[in-house]
Amino acid sequence: MTEKIGFIGLGIMGKPMAKNLLKAGYAVTVFDMVGDRVEELVLDGASAAGSSYDVAAATDRIITMLPDSADSERAILGARGVLAGAKRGSVIIDMSSIAPSMSQKIAAECAKKGVEMLDAPVSGGEPGAINATLAIMVGGKQAVFDQCQPLLKVMGKNVVLTGDVGAGNITKLANQIIVAANIEALSEAMVLAEKAGVDPERVFNAIRGGLAGSAVMEAKAPMMLNRNFKAGFRIRLHQKDLRNVLQTAQELNVPLPVTALVQQMLGSLMNDGEGDNDHSAILHFLERMAKVEVRKGG
Ligand code: NAD
Repeated sequence: MTEKIGFIGLGIMGKPMAKNLLKAGYAVTVFDMVGDRVEELVLDGASAAGSSYDVAAATDRIITMLPDSADSERAILGARGVLAGAKRGSVIIDMSSIAPSMSQKIAAECAKKGVEMLDAPVSGGEPGAINATLAIMVGGKQAVFDQCQPLLKVMGKNVVLTGDVGAGNITKLANQIIVAANIEALSEAMVLAEKAGVDPERVFNAIRGGLAGSAVMEAKAPMMLNRNFKAGFRIRLHQKDLRNVLQTAQELNVPLPVTALVQQMLGSLMNDGEGDNDHSAILHFLERMAKVEVRKGG
């Protein structure tokens, strides 16, 4: 029998992930607050539901892919939410990047109803979602993970259980610290080269194979050099992730000075109307301070 999966949140990431589940032969029931997004998936063979509640009532495993903690809380714990419609033994897999403490709060509410929960945020961006090559970092019980791993493998390549519920989002926050600091450092390097009159593209080509080279550099240096700041991963989402990092760090008494600095830069860029640009636009913050614009050819 075809297995039924629920999917809520059909944005940049959720849409291609749900499409990959359809391609793999699952019967997918979908919901998004934006009706057009549901209609597109229905054209691909999904069934439409009128609410998160209805998705949960029609399926036993429900995936959510939403922007932030408050969205997951509303969609899962709200009055017409997933948990209200879920049956004992159902599994909720929240793949949104949210605060780990919120994942734990949601899991605790689910447990009261005999519903299992995994937090399973992803890395790899829209291309990873389209090509089913996402890195998926999971928190939850081993047995629930084992049951859901084949499903997660349809959407990602590297699927790793890192601990109990909340550990998936702790892992994602660790990832986001490293990515943010890398983009900021790359921006400083590009601005310095430009101001010194050395072609930033040649600098990139000279150093990409050395110790400074990274997946971040390979993805973001070409965007900076081509002045292409179309998201990708939006500044506002990265600012949200670093806010969750700093909130979690505060709860644990962990000072994270560089993360705090980059989070302020992202906030400033949002005030400048750059919230929907790719996070490679951190470059603009450094350029404005140095009064220079990075370009191929210097
Ligand atoms: P998005 O804003 O494009 O999509 C979110 C979708 O959720 C929207 O379609 C919105 O209408 C829907 N939604 C919000 N609240 C809802 C609710 N209560 N009920 C039903 N639908 C609701 O966001 P995205 O880029 O797809 O990101 C989703 C998550 O994945 C975020 O936590 C983000 O940080 C994370 N993420 C994004 C990327 C990326 O490159 N975009 C990469 C890795 C992780």
